[in-house]
Amino acid sequence: MIKRNTGFANLTAGYLFPEVARRRREFAEKNPQAKIISLGIGNTTEPLPEFIAKAMADYSMALATPEGYSGYGDEQGNSTLRAKIAETWYKGMASPEEVFISDGAKCDIARIQTLFGSKVKIAVQDPAYPVYVDGSVIVSAAGKNTGKGYKGVTYMPCTPENDFFPDLSKIKKNSLIYFCSPNNPTGACATKEQLKALVDFANSNGCIIIYDAAYREFIRDPKLPKTIFEIEGSRTCSIEINSFSKPAGFTGVRLGWSIVPMELKFADGTSVNRDWNRVMTTLFNGASNVVQAGGIACLEPEGLKAMKEVIDYYLVNGAKISETLRGENFKKAGVEVYYTGNSPYVWAKFPGLKSWDVFDKILKEANVVTTPGSGFGPAGESFLRFSSFGHQKDVNEACERLSKLSF
Ligand SMILES: *Cc1c(COP(=O)(O)O)cnc(C)c1O
Repeated sequence: MIKRNTGFANLTAGYLFPEVARRRREFAEKNPQAKIISLGIGNTTEPLPEFIAKAMADYSMALATPEGYSGYGDEQGNSTLRAKIAETWYKGMASPEEVFISDGAKCDIARIQTLFGSKVKIAVQDPAYPVYVDGSVIVSAAGKNTGKGYKGVTYMPCTPENDFFPDLSKIKKNSLIYFCSPNNPTGACATKEQLKALVDFANSNGCIIIYDAAYREFIRDPKLPKTIFEIEGSRTCSIEINSFSKPAGFTGVRLGWSIVPMELKFADGTSVNRDWNRVMTTLFNGASNVVQAGGIACLEPEGLKAMKEVIDYYLVNGAKISETLRGENFKKAGVEVYYTGNSPYVWAKFPGLKSWDVFDKILKEANVVTTPGSGFGPAGESFLRFSSFGHQKDVNEACERLSKLSF
C-alpha cells in the first residue's frame, strides 16, 4: 500500500473552523428554538456592489457571442488587471510583471510552499491565520509536533505586552517569515517603524517575508502602511499576498494576487519571480476570466467607492462590538478589549479563563458564535476573536445579548 504523507500524520487535531461549526451544530440540535448569531468565521455577508456584479454578468453574457468568447488567458492573469493593481494599489511600488493574479490568497499561500520546499525554516506570528503553519505541515516543512507546536516552526508571540509586534531576535537565519497586517486574528496593524525593523531584520538574516495584506482596505489611519512595499529595503526580502475577498466580498467569487519583486533572489542568486512564474504557469491555469472582469471593475473609481462603503459598514459593526465588550459586565470580569478600527476583528482577553470555555459559555447563554483565540496559536489562549462581518441588525442583536451576560 502507499504510505500516508508524513505531513498529514503530523497535522494536529481538526482545523479550527470545522470545530467551531461542530460545536454550533451540536448546540443547535439540542436547542432548536435558539436563534444563533455568528460573530465567528471571517466570512463576508453583504451583497456585492451592483457595479461590480454587473461587470461579471456582462462578461459572462459576452462569452456566449463569437466576438466576446475567450478560452484560456495568461496564467499570470489578465494584463489589464495586473496593470490596474500595480497602478491603483501600489502606485508605482510594483510593476505589472511583478503582479500574479490568482484564485485567492489562501491558495497562493498553499502554492508558495511548493516554491520553498520541505527544508525551509518557518517563523509565524502567534496567534496567526492557521494556514501558514498547517500548510507548512502538509508539505513536511514544519517538522514533528512536540505537543507545544512544530519543531521546524518559530512561534513569535504577539500579545498586548509587546504591542502585538514580535521579538524578531527569536527568528532563525534564512527563515520564511509569515507576517499578517492588519492581523487576523488580533486586528493589530504594524506601523512603518515596526515594518522597517522587520524588513531590516530579514535583509540582514537571509529571510523572506510572506506579507499577508488581505485586510489592507480596512486601514483608515493614513499613517499606517497599506503594503510592505512602502518600506525601504522591502523589495529584496518580501512577497506580498492579497485578495479581493475581504474588500470586495469576493470570498465566494475567488480572486487574489501576489507581488514578487524582480530584486528578490534565492541564495544562489536566481530570481524568485522567475520560479514563482513557473509555479503559477505549471500548477495553476489562471483565475476565471469572468471574475477578473469583476476585479477590473473593483478598481474603477465607481468600484473603489462601492468597496469603501461596504467596508465602512463592517467598521460600524466593529465599533459596536468593541463598545459592547467595554460594557460594565465585561469590565467587572476584567475583560481587556483590543480594537484598532483598522481591521474587521475585535480581540478580547478573558483573564484566567480558557478560550474554548468562554466560547461555550457565550454560545450557550447568548447564542452567539465567536472564535476561540487558542485556535490561532498558544499565545491566543484566554482570548476570543469577534468578527464584524455580519448584517448590522444581527450584530446589534448579538451585542444586546452580550451586554446581558455575566461572568
Ligand atoms: C480571509 C483571509 C485570507 C483568504 O483569502 P482568500 O483570498 O479568500 O483565499 C488570507 N489571509 C487572511 C489573513 C485572511 O483572513
